[in-house]
Amino acid sequence: MFAYEIEASKALLAKASRILVITHIAPDGDAIGALTAVGLGLEQLNKQFTLACDDQAPNRFSFLTLVDRLQTVLTHNAYDLVIAVDCGDMQRMGCVFADLPDPKPPIINLDHHVTNTMFGDVNVVDPKANSATEVLYYWLPALGVTLTPPLALSLLTGIVTDTLGFRTVGVTPRTFEAAGDLMRAGADLTLVMSEALTLKPLSTLRLWQMGLNNMRFEDGLLWSVISNEERKATGFEGIGSAGLVNMLADVYQAAIGAVLMAYDDGKVYVSFRCRPPYSVSELALNLGGGGHPLAAGCTLEGPLSKVQEMVVAMAKETIRSQSQLS
Ligand code: AMP
Ligand code: MN
Ligand code: MN
Repeated sequence: MFAYEIEASKALLAKASRILVITHIAPDGDAIGALTAVGLGLEQLNKQFTLACDDQAPNRFSFLTLVDRLQTVLTHNAYDLVIAVDCGDMQRMGCVFADLPDPKPPIINLDHHVTNTMFGDVNVVDPKANSATEVLYYWLPALGVTLTPPLALSLLTGIVTDTLGFRTVGVTPRTFEAAGDLMRAGADLTLVMSEALTLKPLSTLRLWQMGLNNMRFEDGLLWSVISNEERKATGFEGIGSAGLVNMLADVYQAAIGAVLMAYDDGKVYVSFRCRPPYSVSELALNLGGGGHPLAAGCTLEGPLSKVQEMVVAMAKETIRSQSQLS
């Protein structure tokens, strides 16, 4: 697989000596798993590298090696290669990329989003992969990297979190084969399941409580809006819905589940989920975001009431037009 991209990325890597690895703003398990896995791979290849993301890694990923090396603000900006992981477009790399001096370094784009804009000079993008780390599971060994236990743990974390513990639609025998191989290489599945997926702070349950309390259902859309004040009252400081949107979408009567949550800076973070035959990637793309057919999102400027009006109307229209397809 990716024979051409692998050769092209090898050529870019061979020339590079100071590499900036970037993952997407508001990082999830796949983002942090992929970031640390590339770092561990570059360590083996004796390359100098920086791991960067505009936002801190959520605490639940502190069991991963190299997560303490993540920089949210760069200490210098002289790089000769950028490796972007789990980013569907250039904007997802945030300020750590945008603030690099021009001309920007060449980019290797390692990803799995269907909405990927192929923004790299080399694009190692497989929309059939369940996670960016599944792409890395093939890419890193092709560069001569050995799957050590910490590296296997980072890769398995991305697979487990992006598939919600092997429960999403795209999971195939290959996903299990990759996971089995990573377990054989020393990754502890029980540790990943509990630390990255199951255990949660009390504030997450308070957020779900608020979200379920605010829940509304109309025309197949099951959604919840959480204002900045409400969010802060729950103590939830993370970005994203912390699984609330999955709960809403996993209801028989719901065609699409959505969560709209406001933040201090006036921005509203929107998450969408659905089941086949529905798809939310186009909806998110039309709202300036992106994602996958069954899981997508966008970030919009408030006020929350206006965002709700627009998002609810467009989501209902998506349901109306797509229900005719089935
Ligand atoms: P989330 O609902 O935050 O778990 O995100 C679901 C999917 O949508 C992920 O694959 C994200 O990469 C993608 N996504 C969420 N927000 C955005 C955004 N503002 N721009 C592009 N993709 C997004
Ligand atoms: Mn991600
Ligand atoms: Mn991902």
